[in-house]
Parts: sequence; structure tokens; C-alpha cells
Amino acid sequence: MFEHHLAKYKEIKRNRSAVENWNREKEQHLKLATSHASQCRIWDSNNRGTEQKRLRNERRQEAIKRLSASGWGPEELRHMEFYYHRLFELSKPITERTWNNLEPQLVRVLRRLKYRRLEKERCYSLKSRYKLLKIAYENKKYGNRLTIYPPLSDLILDGILGSIDDTIWNTPLEQKLTISVFIDALHDAAAEIAEFSLKWIKQNSLDLTKLLRRSGLDGDYDLRTTIFSCKYCGEKTWVPRIFMHDCYYL
Ligand SMILES: [Zn+2]
Repeated sequence: MFEHHLAKYKEIKRNRSAVENWNREKEQHLKLATSHASQCRIWDSNNRGTEQKRLRNERRQEAIKRLSASGWGPEELRHMEFYYHRLFELSKPITERTWNNLEPQLVRVLRRLKYRRLEKERCYSLKSRYKLLKIAYENKKYGNRLTIYPPLSDLILDGILGSIDDTIWNTPLEQKLTISVFIDALHDAAAEIAEFSLKWIKQNSLDLTKLLRRSGLDGDYDLRTTIFSCKYCGEKTWVPRIFMHDCYYL
């Protein structure tokens, strides 16, 4: 090819315009050839990309089929973290020999995902049970306006509702607990709640007295006959009901 071009050049080299025309023609050829070569490269890489994608997907589907047969469910097998795991990035088909190495690695991922899912479900279930307990307690509180009920959180933290706590934590998650379970449990714990309530009122009265003294109210007064007024909602209240005031303005 080179000899051919050299011979052609020698033939026309004395004719300047012929050389210029020849150069332009060759430049044009080169442009066309370069553009064609680059299109070929793009086509080749696209084709190879699609093929690799197909092989990777086959690898993933084969793994899912095998793991599904060993009992894994769609919650984990369709999870994004599993589905797009780097172990499926190889575009190689699964053989019995490679499966022996791949399976334990994939199972480790699935176990982690399952543990996370169960923890979430457990947390959700415990939260719903505590919500039911709260509703049962609020109903009891509003159904009996003569008794003082400490906040539910104080009762739980002080261990007064130990048996209810046990029911919440230790009843299997598959077993649904209804609100009546909590209404009955609170009814059974009535004596303990009342006993705690007395202690709670006493402690809060002491704290309130300290607060009044700090505010400069040093005079001789009896908390039981003092009327308080909420500065936010204006409600008139007294000890011990004041400790239950849950201001809707705050
Ligand atoms: Zn108020």
C-alpha cells in the first residue's frame, strides 16, 4: 500500500495542484475510515455489554432458583442489597463447582438481611403492643376522674407493670394481642398502681413545695387548699390533680 502511494506521489509531485487534490482526497478517505472504525468500536462494546448483562442476569436467576429451593423467601431474594450484590457482577455461568463456593457467601448476605427484617418486624410489633397498652391506660384514666394516675412511662420504668411488660416482650410475635388483654392486665394491677400513685403524689408534692419556695412563696400555706391556675390554658387545678395536668397548649 505504501509503495503504491509513493509511486503515485512520484508521478504527480511536479504538479502542485494535482498534489493538493490528491492530499485532499486522501484526507477525506482517512476521515471516513476513522469514523467507520469508531462506529465499529461502539457497536462492539455495546454488543459485548448486552451479552455480559445477559450472562450476569442468568447467573443471578440461577442463584435465586437454587436458594429459593433451599427455603429462602422473596423478602430477602428480591431485596436490593441481595439482587444487586457484587457477587452477581461476574458474567460467568454457575457450575456445581463454583456454586459450592458461591452459596455460603450468598447465604451470609441473606441471613444478615433476614435478621434485619425480623428485628424491624419485632420492633414494630412491640411498638404496637405498647400503643395498645397506652390506649387502655388512657381509657382507664379518663373513665375514673377521682383517681390520680401517674404517667404510664413512670409506671413502666419503676417496674410496676412488670407482668404487662412480660406479656408484651415474651408473647410470640405471631400471637396477636388485643386491647382487652391490656384492659384486664391493668385491672389486675390496680392495687400496685394505686400504691405507686401515692408515692408519686408525695414525691411531686415535695418537688412542688421546693419550686414554690424557690419562686419566693415562703408563707405558711397548705398545698391541699391552694388553687393553681395554668398560665397557658387558664385551667384551675389543685394538688394532686395538678400533677396530671397535661396542657394542650404545650
Ligand atoms: Zn394548661
